[in-house]
Amino acid sequence: MAQVTFEEIQCKSALNRVNVPAMPDMRWSLNPYRGCQHACVYCFARGNHEYLGYNTGRDFDQRIIVKTNLVEVLRRELRRSSWRRERVTIGTACDPYQPAELKYGLTRGALQAFRDHASPCSLITKSPTIVRDLPILRELSTVAECTVLFSIATLREEVWRHIEPETAKPLHRLEAMAKLVEAGVRCGVMLAPIIPGLTDDTENLESVVQAAQEHGAAFVGDNVLYLKPGTKEWFMPFLRETYPHLLPQYERFYRGAYAPRRYTEEVRAAVHQLRERVGLTPRDEQPRQPVGQLQLAL
Ligand code: SF4
Repeated sequence: MAQVTFEEIQCKSALNRVNVPAMPDMRWSLNPYRGCQHACVYCFARGNHEYLGYNTGRDFDQRIIVKTNLVEVLRRELRRSSWRRERVTIGTACDPYQPAELKYGLTRGALQAFRDHASPCSLITKSPTIVRDLPILRELSTVAECTVLFSIATLREEVWRHIEPETAKPLHRLEAMAKLVEAGVRCGVMLAPIIPGLTDDTENLESVVQAAQEHGAAFVGDNVLYLKPGTKEWFMPFLRETYPHLLPQYERFYRGAYAPRRYTEEVRAAVHQLRERVGLTPRDEQPRQPVGQLQLAL
């Protein structure tokens, strides 16, 4: 197990406005931690660590910034009369249930705050640790929209071990999702990233979509690997070391950050077909349950 350092800081704000034209539905984000102990080789958030003066490789995995006053600041922000109760996405730059959560409980505190203020949120994770917060998620789901996404790229353990070395097995994530669904929490799967030459074959895509459906996912999103600065410098040496036969393809595909459009369209069309076959939608767009009578504890 890697040696991890926690750097405790005080944040000025908990809610961050998101302004990404490609994601018009995402208006606000919240990240209790910066850096991520899950150490996925492809992690899109690696570049952010550079702004903090750290490197995007081992520092990202092992030097974790902890916003210790996050819950207090969040509660203050949710109390503002100007807060419109827009949906907040938790975990856009870290996994909110990485091991640090067991020590600090900031994600748990944030969920309690969203519940107490009947404010909608969604959360993305790779960790079954989320099950310990099931009672809070259940309560939150009765007063506001709440969606949990489980990120799953593959069910193949020999690939998982290489690309997501410090995460729970994909099957354990699915089992955690099934428990949440059974308790009435809306869940989906993000089939991402789809990694060219490694997880983009029909057999792999089908196995994830099928397993998502069998474990109660309401929808399956998808995304193809992109390699922005900060990630690319970490991912390419990994590829050279672990899957050298894929290097020529990646040198062609990733001259920039994104795979060729034609490839992306083909692979996403394949996922779309698989999804339709099992009756799932690509996004969290099914009709929602009416939200119960609000019991606010402000
Ligand atoms: S779990 Fe998510 S945030 Fe954490 S390293 Fe993996 S991809 Fe990055």
